[in-house]
Amino acid sequence: SKPVVAIVGRPNVGKSTLFNALAGEMISIVKDTPGVTRDRIYADVTWLDKSFTLIDTGGIEPDSGDIILSQMREQAQIAIDTADVIVFITDVQQGLVDSDAKVADMLRRSQKPVVLVVNKVDSVQKYMMDVYEFYNLGIGEPIAISAANRTGIGDMLDEIVKEF
Ligand code: GDP
Ligand code: MG
Repeated sequence: SKPVVAIVGRPNVGKSTLFNALAGEMISIVKDTPGVTRDRIYADVTWLDKSFTLIDTGGIEPDSGDIILSQMREQAQIAIDTADVIVFITDVQQGLVDSDAKVADMLRRSQKPVVLVVNKVDSVQKYMMDVYEFYNLGIGEPIAISAANRTGIGDMLDEIVKEF
């Protein structure tokens, strides 16, 4: 079966925007599953000659814990347990926040391949210096994208499929 790639990150960083930008044929809608919303969370993505299944973990509502950090931990754990590659997405306009660092620690300890993405880099001139801050997460080189403008997406996909 195809490799699984999971998108993980805080609320409002742009997970769904990125998911929608990448989503090709819908392959599955999760429903009637306790703890899982009816949002579309699985999509089939093909890049160059490689295909994978993409999961938006933001569409998964954890059963327990309604504070953001516990949700993020639960979503990150689901990604660690199910994905071959994890796309950890952050927001350059919000900057690096403590919950990013905590989830990055979890991902680093999992030893799963992680692609670190910094979203909302709508203007490279304006935000490029701020992107370097995300090196401090210690999970690799940040890839600057704008999911809204669909820039940087090809570079990000190159890094994802390299891990297969
Ligand atoms: P999620 O909660 O992580 O799924 O985030 P969403 O995809 O729902 O996006 C949250 C907000 O960020 C929405 O208002 C999006 O339009 C906005 N957003 C997403 N990507 C970008 C981007 O590249 N640039 C900017 N400026 N806004 C974005
Ligand atoms: Mg979302």
